[in-house]
Amino acid sequence: MDLQFVRTTCPYCGCGCEFLLETLDGKLVSTIPSKTNVMNGGKLCIKGWNAHEFVQSPNRLTNPMIRKDGELVETTWDEALDFAARRLREIKDNHGGDSLAFLTSAKCSNEDNYVFQKFCRVGFGTNNVDHCARL
Ligand code: SF4
Repeated sequence: MDLQFVRTTCPYCGCGCEFLLETLDGKLVSTIPSKTNVMNGGKLCIKGWNAHEFVQSPNRLTNPMIRKDGELVETTWDEALDFAARRLREIKDNHGGDSLAFLTSAKCSNEDNYVFQKFCRVGFGTNNVDHCARL
């Protein structure tokens, strides 16, 4: 039995709560709030308590999907990215940047989110950028 604890920061919002991820034989099994972190002092909100659950969820998408003939089917990253780039460009060219809206994720790093909003504002000319932490 291999039991390990990894200290990390909650990915869900900017508060910066800290917890230990507990792994048993290489699988994430729980989240334990840090008692020594000044931000959360041994407490977490419901999102933090469940922060380990999405990682190994059977519902998690592990391959890109594309809709063909009305059905979502697995595809390659190259095909999915080419399709998305082509459609985004067509929509921007035909209807303007503000006809697009972009939503990013709290599961990305702050740096990823910063680059994403720059990509939307500079690349597509829209401020229609939001983040799931505001929901
Ligand atoms: S535990 Fe809750 S309040 Fe703390 S960082 Fe995570 S989402 Fe934010």
